[in-house]
Amino acid sequence: MKICVLGAGVIGLTTAWCLAEAGHDVIIIDRHASTAKEASAANGAQLSYAFVAPLASPATLKKLPSLLLSRDSPMRIRARLDPALIAWGALFLLACRPAAVRETMSAQLALAALSRSELTRLTQSLHLSFGLRTAGKLVIHRSARDFKAACRSVAATGEEPGQQILSAAECLALVPALQFDAAQFAGGIFTASEQVGDCAAFCAALTVRLRQRSNVAWLLDTSIFGPVRCGDKLVAVHTGKGQVAADHFVLCMGAASAAFARACGFYLPIYPLKGYSITLTRPPDARVLRHSITDMERKLVFAPLARDGRSAVRIAGIADLERNDMTLDGRRIDILRRAAAELLGLDAAGDIAPWCGLRPATPDSRPIIGWSPLDGLFINSGHGMLGWTLACGSARLTADMIERNRPASETGAFALRRAA
Ligand SMILES: Cc1cc2nc3c(=O)[nH]c(=O)nc-3n(C[C@H](O)[C@H](O)[C@H](O)COP(=O)(O)OP(=O)(O)OC[C@H]3O[C@@H](n4cnc5c(N)ncnc54)[C@H](O)[C@@H]3O)c2cc1C
Repeated sequence: MKICVLGAGVIGLTTAWCLAEAGHDVIIIDRHASTAKEASAANGAQLSYAFVAPLASPATLKKLPSLLLSRDSPMRIRARLDPALIAWGALFLLACRPAAVRETMSAQLALAALSRSELTRLTQSLHLSFGLRTAGKLVIHRSARDFKAACRSVAATGEEPGQQILSAAECLALVPALQFDAAQFAGGIFTASEQVGDCAAFCAALTVRLRQRSNVAWLLDTSIFGPVRCGDKLVAVHTGKGQVAADHFVLCMGAASAAFARACGFYLPIYPLKGYSITLTRPPDARVLRHSITDMERKLVFAPLARDGRSAVRIAGIADLERNDMTLDGRRIDILRRAAAELLGLDAAGDIAPWCGLRPATPDSRPIIGWSPLDGLFINSGHGMLGWTLACGSARLTADMIERNRPASETGAFALRRAA
C-alpha cells in the first residue's frame, strides 16, 4: 500500500519507519526543510516510562485557581475566549475524575512499556546514536501532602523495579548538586530504570536511516493545506507542491492536527500546550548531575544530556494555553534560568539556547491512535507531555492497526471515541 505520513516530528518519523519496515511505500510530508523542527526539537529529554500521570487529575483541579493566577505559575491561560479552548477545557474537567485518571494511568503505562522495548529494538538494530542513557530519575516533592500522595501512588502501582521512596536527606545524598537544605522539601521518589535521550538527535539519526530505504519518499519544505475527499474517503491532500494521493494517510501534525481534522469535518480534541526549554552546554557542575530530576510542584524537568560529545543540562517545563502563539516570552525563559540557579546552582547567564514548542495535548493526556471518521485517515497524534516517551510504541500500534484495517467505530484506550 502507499501510505502518506503527514508531519515529520518524532511521531511521524517513527510511524514512517514502522510502516516502511512492514513493506509499505511511504511518503513523508512536512512544511520544514528538515525533520523535527517543532515540538520534537528541544523537549525535556526524559524518557519517562514510570511517570505517566495525566495533567488532568483531582489534584490539578484543586490547584487550578492558584496555578492560573500566580504570575510565576508554570501554567497560564491567554486565550480565554477561544471556542476551541472552551470545548477542550470542558473535556479536561471531565478527565479529572478519579476513574478517568486510573484508566489513563494503566493505558499509558502499557504504552510506555511497549515504547521502551520498541525504542531499544530500533536503537540496537539501526545503530542509532542520540545519547540514550539509563540515568535514573528523582522526582522531588516540596509539600508533605503531595509527597504522601506520591508515596501512596507508588505503593498502589509500585512494581517498577528499583523504585525507591527517599527522605529529603537521602535525596541530597543522591544528588549533591541540589541547592536545598533538607527542611525545604519533603522527599522524593527515585526510579533507577528511567532514561534520558536527545529527541532531536534521535530524529536526525532515524531520518538518515529512512533516507536509505528505497520504499520511503520525501516531500519536505511543503505545507499541507487540506484534504481532497471523494465521498467519505480521503484520497489525497492539497499541498504547496500539488495534490498527493495515497491509499491511506496518517495524521502526525502535532498541535496542527486539530486544524487538519476540522478541515476533514470532525473534531479532534487536541490543543497546543506551549512549553519552554533552555540548554546549558558544558555547565561547570554538569558532572554532578548524573540523574534526571523533576520538580513536581513547579512542573520543571532537568535532564543531563550529551551533545556533540559535550555534557549539557536541559531544563524544560511550563504549560501555557495561548492558541498557536510561538512567541518566545523572555519572562517565561527567566523562570527556567532562575530554576537552574535555585535548584542546581547552575549559572544560566550565558548561551542557553532558549526554545519554545507546542505540545499537542488531549484533555486526558492520552494520545489518539486509531482510525478517524474519514475513511483512509488514521490518527497518531496528541501525545502532549510524553510524545518522546510514547513515540515508538505509538508507531508500533499504528502500523499494526493499519495492517488490520479496522473501522472507525472501534473504541479502546486510545481511540478517538474512548470507551466511556
Ligand atoms: C517544553 C517541552 C518539554 C517536553 N518534554 C518532554 C519530555 O521530557 N519527555 C517526553 O516524552 N516528551 C516531552 N515533550 C513532548 C514531546 O516533545 C511532544 O509530545 C512530541 O514532540 C510531539 O511530537 P509530534 O511529532 O506529534 O509533533 P511535532 O514534533 O510538532 O511534529 C509535527 C510536525 O508536523 C508538521 N506540520 C504541522 N502542520 C503542518 C502543515 N500544515 N504542513 C506540513 N507540515 C506540518 C510540523 O512541521 C512538524 O514537523 C515536551 C514538549 C515540550 C514543548
